Amino acid sequence: VQHIGVLTSGGDAPGMNACVRAVVRMAIYRKVKISGIMRGYAGLLAGEMKPMDLGSVGDIIHRGGTLLRTARCKEFYEPEGQERGARRLQEAGIDGLVVIGGDGSFRGAQALMRHGISVIGIPGTIDNDIPGTDYTIGFDTAVNTVLDAINKIRDTATSHDRTNVIEVMGRRAGHIALLSGLAGGAESILVPEVPFDVDVVCARLMRGHNRGKLHSIILVAEGVGSAVELGKQIEQKTGLETRVTILGHIQRGGSPTATDRIWASQMGSRAVDLLLAGKSGLMLGVRRGELVEVALDKAMTERHGLDQELYQLAGILSI
Ligand code: ATP
Repeated sequence: VQHIGVLTSGGDAPGMNACVRAVVRMAIYRKVKISGIMRGYAGLLAGEMKPMDLGSVGDIIHRGGTLLRTARCKEFYEPEGQERGARRLQEAGIDGLVVIGGDGSFRGAQALMRHGISVIGIPGTIDNDIPGTDYTIGFDTAVNTVLDAINKIRDTATSHDRTNVIEVMGRRAGHIALLSGLAGGAESILVPEVPFDVDVVCARLMRGHNRGKLHSIILVAEGVGSAVELGKQIEQKTGLETRVTILGHIQRGGSPTATDRIWASQMGSRAVDLLLAGKSGLMLGVRRGELVEVALDKAMTERHGLDQELYQLAGILSI
């Protein structure tokens, strides 16, 4: 590989900047040309790319979001768009690409591979819903953001003797809800992977209330359904005053945690080395605390299931 391009695509996630920084700086360290492509595949098709130097990624390691910006791009679903994207890269002399994003972004990357571009994927999404890896960049920050919110809501919940329903991100996956709920001591954690019964949730609530508990937190992943509706149902069924908080996009922002920055740095630099070693079609991941390489196909065909042991544990400890 003579010239590496890097782009961020799909939803943004804290730690993407640390990753871009690692790609750029490792490429420069290895003396290979490096360009940043703006706004994902949309920017690629529009030819928005620029050579990166050491300073171009200065002062971003601690910032959320992505300085390369990100976008969704309809044209890239079509073979013509993909071909045009590959041509853009070839015209710029870019023969290796690092794609930081989710599974959709990896599908786009695979299309480019079919046109002769070497690609390495890096999982960047707060949802942690990518198969082949225990962890995605941004997940740790999102969990800590939710945890911070739970702590704050707990303070006021205790003072007023209220039940709080908190809705967190996760349309397809309950990883954020599970980890932040376990760490935050939520009474119930409702996730798309596990069917729930509102009467069981209410029974748990009443059991806590009857033993003198002053607050209860119910964490709901957005894929489960409307938190507002759930809050109403709980209030009706239990008679307990219930408040609903939808955390929304604050979960996508914020300065990345040390964990996110460190994995992002390792993944970004390894991606460069893989390209330079002639590798392609791989995604970087973390398995049992170690950096691993996984076939890109695997990252798209399987599902990253919920950690059932942790889920059970959360249920036992919040009784
Ligand atoms: P997240 O789920 O975190 O938002 P993602 O990468 O899965 O991340 P998508 O919106 O699915 O987000 O994909 C990002 C972009 O990747 C799309 O806008 C599109 O340009 C491209 N893409 C997605 N799926 C495909 C596909 N099947 N073929 C080609 N390109 C695709």
